[in-house]
Amino acid sequence: MHIPASISAKLLLLAAFSLATTGLASAQTGAISITLDATQTPQKFIRTHETIPAKPGPLTLYYPKWIPGEHGPDGPVANVTGLKFTANGNTIPWRRDLSDVFTFHVDVPSGTSQLDVDFDYLEPSGGGFATSAMSATDKLIVIEWNQNVLYPAGRPATEITFHPKLILPESWKFGTPQHVEHQSGNEISFAPLSLERLVDSPIIAGQYYRAIDITPPGEPIHHEIDIVADSEAALNMTPAIQKGLTDLVAEAARLFGARHYHDYHFLLTLSDHVAHFGLEHNECNDSRLPERVLLGPNAGLALGGLLPHEYAHSWSGKFRRPGDLATPEYETPMRDDLLWDYEGFTEFAGPLLAARSGLWTPEDYRNNLTNISGALGVGRPGRTWRPLLDTAVAVSGSSFSPGWLNWRRGADYYDEGDLLWLEVATIIHEQTRGQKTIDDFCHAFYGGPNNGPEIKPYTFDDVVRALNSIAAYDWAKFLHERLDSTSPDPPLVGIANAGWKFLFNDQPPKRETRHGDVGELYTIGLQLRPDGTVTDSIVGGPAFKAGITSGMKVVGVNGRVYDHDLLADAIAASKEDSEPINLLVVIDGYYKSCSVDYHAGPRYPHLQRDDSRPDYLTALSAPHTR
Ligand SMILES: [Zn+2]
Repeated sequence: MHIPASISAKLLLLAAFSLATTGLASAQTGAISITLDATQTPQKFIRTHETIPAKPGPLTLYYPKWIPGEHGPDGPVANVTGLKFTANGNTIPWRRDLSDVFTFHVDVPSGTSQLDVDFDYLEPSGGGFATSAMSATDKLIVIEWNQNVLYPAGRPATEITFHPKLILPESWKFGTPQHVEHQSGNEISFAPLSLERLVDSPIIAGQYYRAIDITPPGEPIHHEIDIVADSEAALNMTPAIQKGLTDLVAEAARLFGARHYHDYHFLLTLSDHVAHFGLEHNECNDSRLPERVLLGPNAGLALGGLLPHEYAHSWSGKFRRPGDLATPEYETPMRDDLLWDYEGFTEFAGPLLAARSGLWTPEDYRNNLTNISGALGVGRPGRTWRPLLDTAVAVSGSSFSPGWLNWRRGADYYDEGDLLWLEVATIIHEQTRGQKTIDDFCHAFYGGPNNGPEIKPYTFDDVVRALNSIAAYDWAKFLHERLDSTSPDPPLVGIANAGWKFLFNDQPPKRETRHGDVGELYTIGLQLRPDGTVTDSIVGGPAFKAGITSGMKVVGVNGRVYDHDLLADAIAASKEDSEPINLLVVIDGYYKSCSVDYHAGPRYPHLQRDDSRPDYLTALSAPHTR
């Protein structure tokens, strides 16, 4: 379900506050100066000092709560420590709001024109979600400003001006889309900017740093990848990867028909001691991968699985943003009902651009579709009770919860969005008899003049209108059917329309997959860590019926100590064997013997060419600029 039009209209009014995202606010009496002292990064201790112009009387300040791109109220307020307010050198008492832990109240004394605020941010060494998780090591730091700022209530983020300064450990270098005003040694002043731009403009810094220009030939806008890593060696990028990234920049312009930034930075952090994910911004992305990812044979696969997605967000999610997510500041709750588009379209565009740029091979592209088709079908019986739309609506409450993924469903609007938008692409192709493509839709919806970073909010109806401008079709009915379905089957029509068949057979996949080993998932219905820990057990599957669930640990197979190969052997032999597979599991300190009644042998998901139809999938994902 999409939210009713009346509510959408109200939210669009709210969103209108954040339309003008560049330039400085006029209503502001003066900029807030903010100094972030990161010299104690190795101790995971980041100090903030702010000087806020203030009038005498009550003042309310917010710590950012709803974090753009994370779609939930997960600002890491628990890591804020040492909070102190002073005016004219005197300490002023503060109190936290009784109904909102992100809100702080102070009384500014008479005779005061500015308030000084000091606090420390403790960089976590474990736990947390996305940017709230590990972000600093002995050698580097990722600074997302929402973690290090308090801002006054009452004005939109676009109308509060900050003048930032950063102090880094000696000799550390940095990358950011922010404009450097002045640098003296390890102290850097940045040009004043709005709170909205500040939160949208992270910084990566470290002892080991490298910037590589990836501007395609003839492209007027500068693009670079800034890399910080835990070692010098990890910064080494092959010419093939550099070419892939340069082609990615070119292919994105071809797909979207416009850019909405004046400069773009891929901010890549390579460390085994930070959380691994990516977060989108208008003029950059904050992407984090293991330290040695550039050195291994799968560098293209790993980078292609992350950077094109985060880059595509500059158009989908940052420039075009659901009105429900374009909130005026970070205290107003976000509504996530259009994430099947914001994230779902991006999850379609990311792999598509990975393939078109050559970071992925055509086979990588198909493998990804194969894996998600299996995972979202047999691997996800939860789809029989929970429609796709609800996985988006409820993301801030449930979609990233661990365990029971098959029955709970996860953030399925990502991967299922890929299948949904692939189907859209094939419908456009068919309805226009090959005259129009998904690229035409992208030009219509994400194009327009480049005014630098800006937000153009949209509704469900805007998506439908844009699709209809390219190909006449009952898009609203189509989208509602896909979003509200409780069918046990994933939407594979797009794959079929594109000339390929999804099926299972007994041939193992040729190469490593993004979704890990699937040998047990589509047979006995178990997802296992290498040590035998059960991360998921498909509800209604053979192992589940035998009593095995998430959190248990398999320690024995048919009377022998558990080993992954032994289990694979048992599954392979199951076809000829009338006896069940016996698994010994540990649960809550007890051993339990479970008889898994399975006799179908190995099963792996595959895509196979359907020779009765043209191969549109290969044409769609082939390079478009060369
Ligand atoms: Zn995303």
